[in-house]
Amino acid sequence: MRQIDQMVAGTSGGTASVRAGDVYNPSTGAVQAQLRFSSPADLDRAVAAAREAQPSWAATNPQRRARVMFRFRQLLEDNMDALATLLASEHGKVVADARGDVQRGLEVIEFCCGIPHVQKGEFTEGAGPGIDVYSMRQPIGVVAGITPFNFPAMIPMWMFGPAIACGNAFILKPSERDPSVPVRLAELFREAGLPEGILQVVHGDKEMVDAILDHPDIGAVSFVGSSDIAHYVYERGVRAGKRVQAMGGAKNHGIVMPDADLDQVVSDLTGAAFGSAGERCMALPVVVPVGEDTAERLRAKLVPAIEALRVGVSTDAEAHYGPVVTAAHKEKVEDWIARCAEEGAELVVDGRGFSLQGHEQGFFVGPTLFDHVTPDMESYRQEIFGPVLQIVRAPDFETALELPSKHQYGNGVAIFTRNGHAAREFAARVNVGMVGINVPIPVPVAYHTFGGWKRSAFGDTNQYGMEGVRFWTKVKTVTQRWPDGGAGDSAFVIPTMA
Ligand code: NAD
Repeated sequence: MRQIDQMVAGTSGGTASVRAGDVYNPSTGAVQAQLRFSSPADLDRAVAAAREAQPSWAATNPQRRARVMFRFRQLLEDNMDALATLLASEHGKVVADARGDVQRGLEVIEFCCGIPHVQKGEFTEGAGPGIDVYSMRQPIGVVAGITPFNFPAMIPMWMFGPAIACGNAFILKPSERDPSVPVRLAELFREAGLPEGILQVVHGDKEMVDAILDHPDIGAVSFVGSSDIAHYVYERGVRAGKRVQAMGGAKNHGIVMPDADLDQVVSDLTGAAFGSAGERCMALPVVVPVGEDTAERLRAKLVPAIEALRVGVSTDAEAHYGPVVTAAHKEKVEDWIARCAEEGAELVVDGRGFSLQGHEQGFFVGPTLFDHVTPDMESYRQEIFGPVLQIVRAPDFETALELPSKHQYGNGVAIFTRNGHAAREFAARVNVGMVGINVPIPVPVAYHTFGGWKRSAFGDTNQYGMEGVRFWTKVKTVTQRWPDGGAGDSAFVIPTMA
């Protein structure tokens, strides 16, 4: 059986820990590798190596740091197919979608190639008589990232790209469900010329997360995962005096106005609700048609489109989506389907009990559609994270605006309309962090920034873009003057610019 090891500087990958986990191929249901969990002693070793390596990396001039980013970017492109195939085999998403996962991370690395420009400080000449003020963005030191299973390439790169470009040493704890690609990314970064100790990978579950949160020499932690754990990570990390950003779950709504192009909406919705088996934090698992007539017309087009979806193994080039990540997750999604039906919603298309011929042990869930879902239902309030689409009918625009605004999650939302005024009004007033206008999955490009509101994110700073640079650096401000001789008067009152 293949072993997956940590990547800690100065060790050959071996760990003192006896703990291990199974890594599955969700398409077949078979265990394909053993992941060796790191021990707290391994983390200590990694932090020590990071502390030793970080000062000279931070002192490396930004153009040289950028050159390493450029080379890493090229290696990602050269290894795209192999990365995507490996990723799909552990996650279950189809290979074309896995390429998108790598590509989205690559685009963050492209942003990081501009680090000499974006990490520049600010300067004010003559802030007072003979006084200049300047500020600089310095790296925090040793920092860490804890990532979920659903984007094993993109999300680690959201974090370690900007962190490392800014001069930090980074310790990654990827999801234990699909850890091979994160390790491979760290190998490629080394190959690109990153000094040893600047990017290391430790493995494990809650035990390793707690060790990271409590470690006195780790200055900042970025987390992406489910909301309860994000909240826990945020609280524990902040209590330990760290800077923490912790992104959580989601329940994104797609509002469909009566004037929307319904053929386009159905095509967008099926991709956004069922792509990657619904295991995206920016999926659209709730659709809100405005008005009964819109709801009826939409439903009539949605049902055949959903019934035509092809579910297949991750290597099936014709498949729209593959299996969910584990048997336990399949069971959880099917339990939510049962719950939603018990709560009184109309089960229009039932994906439970789906079996793929030749792959009966795979973790597949068929596409599922509910109509007449209402906001009081627990299955609406909670994230299902599977190929399940819920129709919540709204009588008017104000009700449709209120639904995502009042939901406990506030990651993404989309509105489909031809009416510019309605779209503008919606974007301005909705209580959600990322908005799509006729864009079903509004994940911002790498030079903007990603972050939800409410229980979708704890902490103040978003992922990547300039917000990422801010999270991974601290500002130092210098006020200087160069007197040309002669002692001035002592000042006993606070200096001002009055
Ligand atoms: P998860 O919360 O189970 O795991 C995330 C990380 O936390 C993993 O590294 C895991 O090892 C660790 N972990 C698991 N249990 C823990 C515990 N009890 N204490 C401390 N750490 C623990 O999430 P997942 O199932 O891997 O990923 C799916 C979730 O991530 C969904 O809720 C999805 O919406 C969310 N997500 C959010 C975003 C975002 O940016 N908002 C992006 C992607 C995924």
